[in-house]
Amino acid sequence: MARFKRILLKLSGESLMGEQKYGIDEKRLAEYAMQIKEVHDMGVQIGIVIGGGNIFRGLKGTGKGFDRVKGDQMGMLATTINGLGLSSALTSAGCPSVVLTAIRMEPIGEFYSKWKAIQAMEEGKVAILVGGTGSPYFTTDTGSSLRGIEIEADVMLKGTRVDGVYTADPEKDPTATKFDEITFDEIYNKGLKVMDLTATTMCKENGLPIYVFNMDVVGNLKKVMNGEKIGTLVHD
Ligand code: UDP
Repeated sequence: MARFKRILLKLSGESLMGEQKYGIDEKRLAEYAMQIKEVHDMGVQIGIVIGGGNIFRGLKGTGKGFDRVKGDQMGMLATTINGLGLSSALTSAGCPSVVLTAIRMEPIGEFYSKWKAIQAMEEGKVAILVGGTGSPYFTTDTGSSLRGIEIEADVMLKGTRVDGVYTADPEKDPTATKFDEITFDEIYNKGLKVMDLTATTMCKENGLPIYVFNMDVVGNLKKVMNGEKIGTLVHD
């Protein structure tokens, strides 16, 4: 039995780069697809929000003279490119999926609604939710919180390249230790960074726990669903 029945999986665009400096690493994409298929085969209902940082980030663009709103729209389109890539990789892995877009752009994907996403998941398809929230000044972390709450997921699984929430940044501080569990209040009080504050607060206020784990280690997604002791659970 899988630990969670319905999940919202957040995949970072940056991780999709793999060893590259830009764009999509096909090997990483295929690994993600295989991991997703594994938990899909366990009967888990899966919604996915994917980032776009491997292609474009609005805020970074403003430093180079881009208009912020147009830059954010470029970022949202970047998440759409990644979502289409993931959908294609899932098809190759033998896992059915649909792409639902936060901004109308048929035939690239159907226009998102909560009910379309739930219906797709109940029919055994992975629902790939692209375009973030559809509005500028937000991130795909906030998009994940919003969609996770909307689709009534049991948990948001935040796939990152570190294996959980640490006392300090483990890539900079070798003495940093990992929490197995932590509350939202401790996150605020200790000034720890799990996601941006808007995203974290949405989860707290709507009772959506966050499970942070390293998605770049093949097999980890299944381990989380099997209840193995990896990652960090953030709860109320
Ligand atoms: N974005 C946005 N609204 C949203 C989600 C994303 O404007 O609701 C834009 C924003 O410019 C962001 C970019 O899309 O920088 C890519 O998303 P994000 O940075 O969250 O991707 P990740 O860090 O997960 O790769």
